Amino acid sequence: MRFHKAESAFFILIALIMGAGVTLVAAYSLMSANSHIQHSGELEDFRLLLMITGIFLAIAIISGLFFIYPLIRTQVMEEGKLRAMTETLSARSESLEYAAFTDSLTGAHNRRYFDDALAEYLREFGRIRKPVGLMVLDLDHFKQINDAHGHDTGDEVLRQVARSLRELTRPHDVVARLGGEEFAVLVPNMDEQGLNRLGERARRAISSLALDVGNVRLRISASVGIAVWNGDESAESFYRRADRMLYQAKREGRNRVCA
Ligand code: GH3
Ligand code: MG
Ligand code: MG
Repeated sequence: MRFHKAESAFFILIALIMGAGVTLVAAYSLMSANSHIQHSGELEDFRLLLMITGIFLAIAIISGLFFIYPLIRTQVMEEGKLRAMTETLSARSESLEYAAFTDSLTGAHNRRYFDDALAEYLREFGRIRKPVGLMVLDLDHFKQINDAHGHDTGDEVLRQVARSLRELTRPHDVVARLGGEEFAVLVPNMDEQGLNRLGERARRAISSLALDVGNVRLRISASVGIAVWNGDESAESFYRRADRMLYQAKREGRNRVCA
């Protein structure tokens, strides 16, 4: 076991005080054994013991004041600095983790988070045999919005879509922007009927978003593909199935839900 410098110094201080105690006790016993110290030899011993006690105490006080106290103070200050540094580091790593899993434009989860969540939900809900639903959305003719009103307006539309998806979903549903103008919502523990209803509500919410640009009221719509996990397909084929439904919705004329 290794001791810190301050701890070793503290043990030395205790040893010094104990030494002083022992010599004091010895001086006291010498005095009680010879209530009238007459012989000069005994008087000498008594003086010597008192002097050693005094030396022990003096060393203890001096080392305590000039050596141990500064050591303890430095250690306390170092620990304070270390604690502050650890707190800053853990706050920074939290914000890095947040950045690593969040889409900076919309505040929704990003593709990386979505992929991890999909794999984990399939594993966990497969184990307890509960349904997992997936909804993939792509905004219709979004390029035209950028072309006609500028990229910033397009960005604002993306933010509004993300917000309305978050408002429609439950806390454990995962709303993610997979890239460009494509979003996905991972919906654990919801059957096909419930998922169809949610898809329709999302489509309606997006088509009722209105963004005023100058004196033009901008309207958008989204095509939605949905699928419920069949219990043994891989995350990839599950996602591809929902994506095929999305492209069917596009083919059938957009602004619709396909299951
Ligand atoms: P479709 O109905 O077939 O989906 O047509 P679309 O125009 O929505 O699809 P397309 O893939 O042709 O265009 C997608 C556009 O999305 C092109 C790109 O400029 C735009 N886009 C991608 N990412 C962003 C972004 O972060 N911000 C903005 N403002 N636009 C983006
Ligand atoms: Mg699109
Ligand atoms: Mg697209």
